[in-house]
Amino acid sequence: MRLLIDRLERERRLEKEEWMALIGELPEAEYLFAKARAAAKRQYGTAVYARGLIEFTNYCKNNCFYCGIRRDNANVDRYRLDEAEIMDCCKTGYALGFRTFVLQGGEDPYYTDEKLERLVWRIKASYPDCALTLSVGEMSKESYQRLFDAGADRYLLRHETADERHYRRLHPKELSLNARKACLLALQEIGFQTGCGFMVGSPGQTVESLAEDMLFITEFGPQMVGVGPFVPHHDTPFAKHPKGSVERTLYMIGLLRLLKPALLLPATTALGTADANGRERGVLAGANVVMPNLSPIGVRKKYALYDDKICTGEEAAECLAGLRRRMEGIGYALSMERGDPVKE
Ligand code: SAM
Repeated sequence: MRLLIDRLERERRLEKEEWMALIGELPEAEYLFAKARAAAKRQYGTAVYARGLIEFTNYCKNNCFYCGIRRDNANVDRYRLDEAEIMDCCKTGYALGFRTFVLQGGEDPYYTDEKLERLVWRIKASYPDCALTLSVGEMSKESYQRLFDAGADRYLLRHETADERHYRRLHPKELSLNARKACLLALQEIGFQTGCGFMVGSPGQTVESLAEDMLFITEFGPQMVGVGPFVPHHDTPFAKHPKGSVERTLYMIGLLRLLKPALLLPATTALGTADANGRERGVLAGANVVMPNLSPIGVRKKYALYDDKICTGEEAAECLAGLRRRMEGIGYALSMERGDPVKE
């Protein structure tokens, strides 16, 4: 199995059966992680980039079976931040040193193209030295283009799973893997730094599904990949499903680092929720991004995609200080720079 890991590092691709052999058994994890850390260090040194996450709306017109803010969850206390509140979050974030803001939300029809465009424009006009990442779901290519033209730099849209059958298990019928992939292609064509990604251990996922994810990512060539364990939410159809494996999530991070060494790979909040040291372990497996929460403290708990989400009770500054300590504790340095992808 070490030979297979060596070949992945050398050739940056594997056959489906080879992916399955690794993902099924998780062999030689420490060997993989050491190589993944070395690969990340060659590209980015010991920097772990901080992105200021602003969860600006929990209204969502979609009904994904795994997600706590799905349309049919009547127990969600819905909120949306207005433009002034979002600008305030950026102001706080900028003063703390953040140079990337991530605007994430449900697919909220209140936020029309015009409103989002205006928001992007305002943020970029106020903070021209910052990168702006959007994560607001599926839109037409024209809408994405408008947001890009207004100044947005990056877009996160997890593909969720590249396995057609599995996609249908996770989503209602109005959502399709083809549409998701078309959005990702559009984003890439427009020129966004584009991020896809998936959950580990979501209901119906097999080792083959995860192998499909790796094949998709090999071909698609994203700049970012978000991977975190599935964590159940009590008010969703998957409430009783067990959470995804932290070990397998870490292993996937290690594999992704060897597959695409220049990736920006977050140690996600879901990983930190599933394991108290999840974010440190993520970095030690090859991740190089963390996303501290900049949302106003009063709304944090309302953006509950899954149960027991961490960092919902701390002010932005505490959140940041905690992460800085954690990263220094494992020999890494939290970087507040924009952290664009390096050219390999
Ligand atoms: N609406 C946008 C979209 O669909 O891309 C962005 C927000 S969406 C809530 C962000 C991500 O949260 C999803 O892509 C999904 O992978 C993740 N997520 C949702 N529910 C989750 C759960 N129960 N456990 C872990 N991750 C979850």
